[in-house]
Amino acid sequence: MEVCYQLPVLPLDRPVPKHVLSRRGAISFSSSSSLFGAPDPRQLSQRRGAISYDSSDQTALYIRMLARLSCVSTSASSGPERRVHRLLSFQRYLHSSRLLRGVPQQIPLHILDEDYTGQARCMLEKVGNWNFDIFLFDKLTNGNSLITLTFHLLNQYGLVELFRLDMVKLWRFLVMVQEDYHSDNPYHNAVHAADVTQAMYCYLREPLLAKSLTSYDILLGILAAATHDLDHPGVNQPFLIKTDHYLATLYRNTSVLENHHWKSAVGLFRETGLFSHLPAEDSLSMERELGSLILATDISRQNDYLSRFRVHLDQEDLCLSNYSHRHFILQMALKCADICNPCRPWELSKQWSERVTEEFFQQGDIEKKHKLEVSPLCDRQKNTVGNIQIGFITYVAEPLFAEWARFSDTRLSQTMLGHMGLNKASWSGLQQEQTPVSEEAEASIAGTDTEGAAVRRDSTTATATGGTSSKEIPQGSSES
Ligand SMILES: [Zn+2]
Repeated sequence: MEVCYQLPVLPLDRPVPKHVLSRRGAISFSSSSSLFGAPDPRQLSQRRGAISYDSSDQTALYIRMLARLSCVSTSASSGPERRVHRLLSFQRYLHSSRLLRGVPQQIPLHILDEDYTGQARCMLEKVGNWNFDIFLFDKLTNGNSLITLTFHLLNQYGLVELFRLDMVKLWRFLVMVQEDYHSDNPYHNAVHAADVTQAMYCYLREPLLAKSLTSYDILLGILAAATHDLDHPGVNQPFLIKTDHYLATLYRNTSVLENHHWKSAVGLFRETGLFSHLPAEDSLSMERELGSLILATDISRQNDYLSRFRVHLDQEDLCLSNYSHRHFILQMALKCADICNPCRPWELSKQWSERVTEEFFQQGDIEKKHKLEVSPLCDRQKNTVGNIQIGFITYVAEPLFAEWARFSDTRLSQTMLGHMGLNKASWSGLQQEQTPVSEEAEASIAGTDTEGAAVRRDSTTATATGGTSSKEIPQGSSES
């Protein structure tokens, strides 16, 4: 569908669009509007406070526990600050606490010129290209790749009109989603979410899916991709468990991160009222299905999904007119999108590999500092980017993408397998040039599910603090 709208011009890190042109014409916003500007913490708390939760709703439990535990961990907080703390996501709490203390925004509100937005617009014309450079796109959109890309895709599919989404609520939702990713995580940040969303779009366009998926499936797939790592703390589930983080307690040490990402997304649905015009049962089932997609990204359940996928492919019994089968394929597509870094061209793949490894190593540094056992793959003295990647490709990515190519035997699948083979060979070549390090990576990745989970902090990694400094504070202490 041909869509014509103007890309919003956004300031760095804190999006404050001066105007957005809808498909029908211009919608103007005052730059002082709190809708898109720096969130007013008092307004946020009122908004969240205005949402009524059914007592049987798990989200309510989550919000209440979050409030209770936040109170415990912030005994020194003053009244208003404490109220805000218990109601905001961790990321937005950090922003708001700066505002409350009168600390000015450190990031200059630099506005990009027309050349940049023009180039970003050009890039979006090739958004279905597997070589799409999300890093460049993020620069051209002034750090707003996730908002811009998701908004574009929803428009391109005509989903805004079809689901009668309020443009203001949608924009506000996307701004909040992007803000709730931690920009100081080397890997699990909004650019990763944008990258996964772009990959998901490529898979949704594959012939088998394109001819079977409904608009609802596509809406769900795009939203799940954009929110699948929401409020990711940059450490993994084992770290949360061993530091007695309250999220681990809340989710009983099971899919801790994925449950948190999902509940955070549901919180934003309700806070912005994005689907408040739908019948309650429809929005509830949408929230449930979003959860089912996000929970599928838990890498510790990789073998369950892969086995089910193999059985379906062996028996040739996938029938995409069947809703549950389509949902299963959406889960598999999201899983592929989430770990598709090794399937990208080398220059992109290499950057992702370096970023994820740095995030592992930062966790290892914190563990060492606090005299905790260093998690597998997190010790910078014992691992390299290359050995982690070779192990990950061999034991996690290759088995998944081989099955995906059986399901969807297309040019894209062959391209992905081709890149993965070349990337693995490149890492092997680089490894041979370097002094060999321990075999920890291979042993960890080839090990049990639980150990494998440590490899890919993507889905397993979890929680809730702000930058490196706050990450150094094990849970129970302050900011988380
Ligand atoms: Zn992810």
